[in-house]
Amino acid sequence: MSKYTDKLTKAEDTYTFDDFLIKPGLSSIEPKDVTLNTKVSTNYDLNLPVVSSAMDTVTESSMAISLAREGGLGVIHRNLTIEQEVKEVKKVKYANELTVREVITISPDETVEDAQEIMDIEEISGLPVVDDNDIVVGIISRRDIKPLRGKRLNRKVSEAMTHNVVTISEDTDTETALDLAYENKVERLPVVSDNNEIVGIVTMKDILERKKYSNAVRDKNGRYLVAAACGPFDMERAMALSDAGADIIAIDSAHGHKTDIIESVREMNKNVESDVLLGNIATAKAAEDILKAEINGIKVGIGPGSICTTRIVAGVGVPQLSAVSSVADVAEDYGVPVIADGGLRYSGDIAKALAVGANAVMIGSLLAGTTESPGEMTIRNGRKFKQYRGMGSLGAMTGGVGAGKDRYFQNSGSNMNSTKLVPEGIEGVVPYKGEASQIVYQLMGGLKSSMGYVGAKSIDEMHEKAELVHITPNGMSESHPHDITITNESPNYHPRQ
Ligand code: 5GP
Repeated sequence: MSKYTDKLTKAEDTYTFDDFLIKPGLSSIEPKDVTLNTKVSTNYDLNLPVVSSAMDTVTESSMAISLAREGGLGVIHRNLTIEQEVKEVKKVKYANELTVREVITISPDETVEDAQEIMDIEEISGLPVVDDNDIVVGIISRRDIKPLRGKRLNRKVSEAMTHNVVTISEDTDTETALDLAYENKVERLPVVSDNNEIVGIVTMKDILERKKYSNAVRDKNGRYLVAAACGPFDMERAMALSDAGADIIAIDSAHGHKTDIIESVREMNKNVESDVLLGNIATAKAAEDILKAEINGIKVGIGPGSICTTRIVAGVGVPQLSAVSSVADVAEDYGVPVIADGGLRYSGDIAKALAVGANAVMIGSLLAGTTESPGEMTIRNGRKFKQYRGMGSLGAMTGGVGAGKDRYFQNSGSNMNSTKLVPEGIEGVVPYKGEASQIVYQLMGGLKSSMGYVGAKSIDEMHEKAELVHITPNGMSESHPHDITITNESPNYHPRQ
C-alpha cells in the first residue's frame, strides 16, 4: 500500500539546461564550416534555428522582418484584433516584395512635361510607357528628359522615350535581373507577361537590398516567411491569418494537451493553408496525443520562461531539457519538428536544446529589449530599458484584446475584473540591447562554436553526435566566470540575476 509514497519514490528525475554540459568530441569542424538550416515545421525550413516568442513585448512585424532577414522566424503575437494581426502579417509579407505591382505608367501620347511632373510628385526616376492595352512600348526616365534641357517639354512622351525596353518576366531570378540591369545600365526593369503587358516593375535598389540578406527565409514567391499566433478555438482568426499569407499558424495555449484543443486544431488544420504548430506541451504522452491532430510542428515548454510563474503558482511543469528530449523522442519518429520554447538564457542553452532533439528554439527575453521589440523605451539611472511581460501577466491579460486570458484558461465571464484573474506571468523591464540581428549573430556564434566542439557540421549531426555530461551545482558555478569583478560587459554574457 504505497499509493502515495510511490508518487515520490517513483517520480521521474528531470533536468534542465544548468544540469548538463555538452561533452567535447573529436572534431574536424571549424565553427565557420557549420550550417544552421533546420526544419521549423514539416513544410518550412529556416536558415537558423531561432523563432521569436508570440508575445506583445517581443514580436510584431518589425521583429518578424528582422528575423526573417537573418534566416529565422517571428511569430506575431495575438494580443491584437484579428484585423491588427492580419495587418502585421501583411507588413512582413510585403516588406521586401521584389516586384512592385502597383506601377505608375504613362501613355506615349502624354507630354514630357506630364512625365516629369509625375516623377516629381511620386519621387521616382522613371516610368514605363504603356499603350491603351497596357502593352509596354517604351520607358521614360530623367535621363531621357535631361538632354532636352527644359526645351519643348510639350512634345509627346513617344518622341523622348527609350524604345528598346529591357524587360523581365515574373520568373526571372534576381541574379539574371541584376546582370541585365548592369549590362544595360538601367535602374528599373518592367516585369511583363508573355504578350508584353505590364505586370510590375523591379528596381535595382530592391535587387541589391535583397542580395544584402542572402540568408533570408522566403516563401515560394520570394516574400519573407512569417508565423502568427492563434487561439486553439479561434477559427475566424486562423482563416484570416491563412488568407493573409501567414506561412505558419502557431496555436498558442499554456496547456496544449487537452482533448478539446486537439479536436479543434484537427478541424482548424483542415481549413487553413498554413502549417500549424501546436503547443505547449512537456511530455511524451502529450506528444503522442497532439500528433493525432496531424500538426506540422510541436512547441515544448511548460513554465521555463523567464517571465513565467506557472510552476510556482500552479506547481506544474517539467524542467525544459527533460521536456524537450521526451517530446523529441516521439516527434522524430513522426518526422514532426520540435521547438524548444522558453528558458534560454545563453547561446549554450540553444546548443543543449538542439543536442536533445529540438529543431529550433523559441526565445522571448533574449530578444525583448531590442530595437525591433514593441514597446516604449524607458530610462532609469541613465540606462535604457524596454518592457517585457508574460502573456499570462495581469498587464497582458487586461491589455490589448486580453489574449493572455484564454491562453491561461481565464475566460469565464467577459467582464471579469483584474482582481479575479490568476496570473501565471510577471511584468518587468529588460535592458535595451540594440538591434535584434546583433543578438542573433552572437547567439548563432555561440551555437556554431558548440557544434565545432562536438564535431557536428549540421543540426542533424548535432542530434546524432552531441553527448551530454550530467553536472552538479558546483560544476555549474565553476562554469560561470568566478573570482573576478567584470569590468567590460561582453555582448554574449551577462551574469545571472
Ligand atoms: P523566455 O525566452 O523569456 O525565457 O520565455 C518565453 C516563453 O515563455 C514564451 O515563448 C512563452 O511560451 C512563455 N510565456 C510567455 N508569457 C508567459 C506567461 O505569462 N506565463 C507562462 N507560464 N509562460 C509564458
